[in-house]
Formats: sequence, C-alpha cells, structure tokens
Amino acid sequence: MARKLPVMALLGAATLAGLWWAERKYPLREQTWPEGLRTVRNVAMGASSLLVVQAIEVPLTERIARGNLVNSRGIAQKMPRPMRLLAGVAAMDYGFYLWHVATHKVPFLWRYHRVHHIDPDMDMSTAMRFHAVDMLVSLPWRLVQVWLSGVDPKSLTIWRNFFNASVLFHHSNLKLPHGWDDRLSMVITTPAMHGVHHSKAPEERDSNWTSGLSFWDRLHRTFRKVDNRAIAIGVNDIAAEADLSLERSFTAPYRSMPEEVPVVNSR
Ligand SMILES: [Zn+2]
Repeated sequence: MARKLPVMALLGAATLAGLWWAERKYPLREQTWPEGLRTVRNVAMGASSLLVVQAIEVPLTERIARGNLVNSRGIAQKMPRPMRLLAGVAAMDYGFYLWHVATHKVPFLWRYHRVHHIDPDMDMSTAMRFHAVDMLVSLPWRLVQVWLSGVDPKSLTIWRNFFNASVLFHHSNLKLPHGWDDRLSMVITTPAMHGVHHSKAPEERDSNWTSGLSFWDRLHRTFRKVDNRAIAIGVNDIAAEADLSLERSFTAPYRSMPEEVPVVNSR
C-alpha cells in the first residue's frame, strides 16, 4: 500500500499535466480572458473547498459507508455481490444529477453554484471553482446519497476518484479527435457536453446536468448537443464580472442576487 501510493500520485500528476497540456494544444472553445489570474483564483477556491471536503465530508461519508457494509443497508447492498460496486457508484452518480438540478432551481442553492458558473471561460481550473461553504451546504444531501446508495468504503473511494477525474475532464477545454466526444458522451460526461451546460442561454444551461455517467441526461431527455464554438460561457448578470475576484466570489452568495438577462440560444 505504502509503495502503491507514490505510483498512484505520480500517475495522477502525469494525467493532470497531460490534460493541462492537451487542452491548450487542442482547444475546444476560444478563450476570451487572460488565463493567469483566472487560474490562480480558481485554484485558490478549489483549495479551500478541498479542505472542507477532506476535513468534514470524507470522514463522515466513510463512517456511513462502513455502516452500509455492516448493516447490509442501501441499494447496492441489496444487489447480488458482483453488481454491488456498479450499483453503488451509479446510485451516487444519479444522486449528483438530482443535486445539480436542485443547485440551479432552488434560489438559495443557486447563490453558491452561481459562483462556479460565472467563470467566463472553461478549462480544468473551472472544475476547482466552487465556494467552500457550498461543500457544507451540500453535505446533508451527500450523507443521504451515501446512505441510500449503500456504497461500501471501497466503492465510495472508487466513486470519489471517478467523480473527481470526471469533473476535471468534462470542465477541460479539450477538443477530442474524430468524433470521440460524441462517442464518449454516450457513456460519460464529456467536455463538449458540459460546455453546453455552462452557456449563458437558459435553454442550454438547463441541459447536460450529469457529472459522471451521461445516461441520466438521456433518461430525463435533458441531453443537448451544441457546437461549443457558438456558446457564450458564463452568467449574464450585471455583477458576474466583478464577482470573479476572490473576495467578491466568497461574499457573493450573501449579497442580493442580480437579475440575469436572458441570452438567445446559441442554435
Ligand atoms: Zn451547473
């Protein structure tokens, strides 16, 4: 185990570096803002969110996952043994689909999720742009997800790794070659697919909610395909640009919400 860790860390770092290089070499959308300051702000927000997740969410969810195993509790534990991993991960993933819809539709939750969406460009750093308090606001539902899904501790770790890798991948600005984005989007959330969700146009933002398995968008008929070169990324309200600064990003949920001006659909 101790020997495995550095290997896994090295592999993870190499994959991150590869994706960072690739999204610059093969961009999906033209970037509109200088990259440096955006990246620093997004990474700083990501670090504070990660701190909350590691300190509070991880220990609590692990405790529930151990209870699932011991008490044969939740969806996955009711399945035949070979299906438990897949059922647990899929149930966690579906819980995230529902939560993501709620973060847009419930005004209190949107206050926090808006901070993620105001990024005027999308790349790997956008995946880190979450409000630290958002991690606390989502915690009760996360605990319910783990309880209902019935994931055991090992499945929980696998789901977490899959989720984090997926979030980095589908926020990236990587243009996949030869129709691979379309093919992959039959199974998982892809960069072109999630780019549509970050559109300023309401019809486009209200689509492609998945953050792992794309199946849920097809099931709910919320899948939408749009040429990413035609998408205006961000939120179209009067405060969005000013709220990009670190200080205003952290305080934005606690100020009165600016009204958003609807933008015409890209297609
Ligand atoms: Zn969203």
